[in-house]
Amino acid sequence: MKKIVIATNNEKKLNEIETILGDLNIQVIPQSHFKIGESEEPFNTFIENALIKARYASEKTGLPAIADDSGLCVDILGGKPGIYSARFSGSPKSDENNNLKLLEVLKDKNKRKAHYYCAIVFIESPSDPRPIIAEGIWQGEILEIPRGKNGFGYDSLFLDYKTDLSAAELSAEIKNKISHRGQALQKIKQKLKIIYGQ
Ligand code: IMP
Repeated sequence: MKKIVIATNNEKKLNEIETILGDLNIQVIPQSHFKIGESEEPFNTFIENALIKARYASEKTGLPAIADDSGLCVDILGGKPGIYSARFSGSPKSDENNNLKLLEVLKDKNKRKAHYYCAIVFIESPSDPRPIIAEGIWQGEILEIPRGKNGFGYDSLFLDYKTDLSAAELSAEIKNKISHRGQALQKIKQKLKIIYGQ
């Protein structure tokens, strides 16, 4: 069976990626399986950061790779935290501190429109000249009080416009259908079906 390495050490992202790609006849292997660290994310765009993560994982493992780079973009903050979402409150990464900081910077703000953005990249090798790139955007707004226990990151503060539920109140199944990552992965999945003849 064809193998693809998934270039993330984030367990929650990994679960989402494995679930969505699970019915393909492809073995998806997390990069943690190979005991490789995280690649740097030196760029100012999600797509470039996803590409460098995928190349790093592919180079270290000799396998085709899929990488995700994603984040939360808040309109009134000029798109921040954006590519800095994971470390919005500094290092080490802490979802709890990131959420507290987000609530603090949006205190007294009524315009709380935001979106999650995700770039997913698939490459067959580190020097693949034709990476496959897909994007997903999920529109919503930032709540004043956290709601729900599911998901990760900013999910308890992100209100989905369509369902009027926070991302952390949605089941994993529904989140995977509508989220930024779900949308991008569905597009990549269609391409993988063509490449691997499924
Ligand atoms: P990355 O691992 O560098 O792509 O950072 C992604 C960061 O964006 C995560 O650590 C979260 O803070 C945020 N993020 C991305 N996708 C989601 C999501 O689906 N739910 C909640 N937070 C997310």
